[in-house]
Amino acid sequence: MFDLNTIVRPNILALQPYSSARDEYSGKQGIFLDANENPFGELNRYPDPYQSELKDKIALVYSIAPENIFIGNGSDEAIDLCLRIFCEPGKDKALTFTPTYGMYKVSAAINNIELLEIPLNAEFQIDINSAIASLKDPAIKVLFICSPNNPSGNTIEEIETMIKNFKGIVIVDEAYADFTNSSLLEKLGMYPNLVILKTLSKAWGLAAVRLGMAFGSKAIIDLFNKVKPPYNISTLNYKAAIEKLGDIQGFEKAKFLLISERERMAEALTKLPQVVKVYPSQANFLLIEVRNANRIYDYLKQNNIIVRNRNQEIPNCIRITVGTPDENKKLLTILENSTL
Ligand code: PMP
Repeated sequence: MFDLNTIVRPNILALQPYSSARDEYSGKQGIFLDANENPFGELNRYPDPYQSELKDKIALVYSIAPENIFIGNGSDEAIDLCLRIFCEPGKDKALTFTPTYGMYKVSAAINNIELLEIPLNAEFQIDINSAIASLKDPAIKVLFICSPNNPSGNTIEEIETMIKNFKGIVIVDEAYADFTNSSLLEKLGMYPNLVILKTLSKAWGLAAVRLGMAFGSKAIIDLFNKVKPPYNISTLNYKAAIEKLGDIQGFEKAKFLLISERERMAEALTKLPQVVKVYPSQANFLLIEVRNANRIYDYLKQNNIIVRNRNQEIPNCIRITVGTPDENKKLLTILENSTL
């Protein structure tokens, strides 16, 4: 049986969170002389620490209850908070499958938490038997699974097997899941140890706004809210997010364009002599294997096109984000004209 209280760090369980004098007056009118704000101006007041209006909006878009939503300063904040809530520095561990998103490692290192890295197989899928065996270590409190995975672009199979076989918290990072029809969100209620991360930085096109979400049981979300800085979402970002989430049509249109550009790019790249393989992608980027990644990377850079060289983790692989049709065309033309 999963018992949340045995996973949470004792100091976090015991924590008395910061409370402002205004908490009980949230959303009400009054003369507020409690928070040392300047009474003049437009942006003079602290933002709503509960982010109620935005949570209602996200709840509608993703068909989930507001009490199951945490809003962070990017999903990077949620990644950091997960480690801080569940892993005792210098003692507990986290685990992930590589190659994957680099922030899990950086965030673990900042928090002095050992991150175990198990390689994905040649198809970038989890080798279930060895993964389950590795999860037996009772010091592992958090498991990160990124699906669709960055940088490989594929969705990960067998996530539910992992959730069922792990006594700690499974964080499924769905930063790119808006580009697919696959999400575990519908199954959130089935798994008390599941946390799903999403972001407005990718399909929603709001990376500058820094707004990420964690979805989980009310008990887990209460812990996130206990630990987060009280005013972690600025009023400007809050408003921009609410406006964007109201434009579902625009969201669907942009998504459709990016997905068709991705497929067009994949096909065109496959035909280039420098390209050995284009990995199938469910996200807004493509992982390609080339004859010489360092040379292609430098050549593109000389031509003012910046891609991500992943050669160190995946030999001769480059990750290319899908750009505008014009940007993609320029990239293809420059590669077509190269003698590399
Ligand atoms: N998760 C994954 C898999 C990502 O690739 C990224 C951004 N590159 C993030 C999370 C961070 O997203 P945010 O902008 O919401 O912090």
